[in-house]
Amino acid sequence: MESAMKIDALQADITTLEVDAIVNAANQSLMGGGGVDGAIHRAAGKELKEACRALDGCETGDAKLTEGFKLPARYVIHAVGPVWSGGKRDEALKLASCYRRALELADSVDARSIAFPSISTGIYRFPIERAAEIAIQTVKETLPGTSVERVTFCCFSERDLAVYEALLNRSAR
Ligand code: ADP
Repeated sequence: MESAMKIDALQADITTLEVDAIVNAANQSLMGGGGVDGAIHRAAGKELKEACRALDGCETGDAKLTEGFKLPARYVIHAVGPVWSGGKRDEALKLASCYRRALELADSVDARSIAFPSISTGIYRFPIERAAEIAIQTVKETLPGTSVERVTFCCFSERDLAVYEALLNRSAR
């Protein structure tokens, strides 16, 4: 089963990736922000903001889908990760829920390939090692039975890439 899933990590700007869907680390307003959210909105063009406005926000742990407009990706899945506040406010469950909901939405439009940024680990301060573990585990659990064949963890920094690679290599053994 596992051999059919292609899961890898690379260092890149997620707005450049030619995949069916990229995931955005959005906030509840879905109206844009800093970090990867700002980069995606800049690259997709102002139509993305119009599409997001119509979605009327999103709960933490949930995700919503739009087209990709000027991006090479056909769709953007806007996931709202938790703000880290020490770990006792269900941050881990909410982060896992983001990855699950994103894959469900990807499946709903028959996407074959998807790229995730490291949700919540920037401005929202979720510790990268724990977040990467949750991301990888949740993707592996959710992927079977969906349309998605290839998952890319798109890391912005070399350090984040090293964390993902170490975990992916460990679980491949
Ligand atoms: P959050 O508010 O969910 O923490 P951030 O955008 O602040 O979201 O950070 C999430 C991750 O996205 C961080 O690892 C950050 O370095 C990374 N990031 C920022 N810009 C980009 C980009 N253009 N492509 C991919 N990852 C990015």
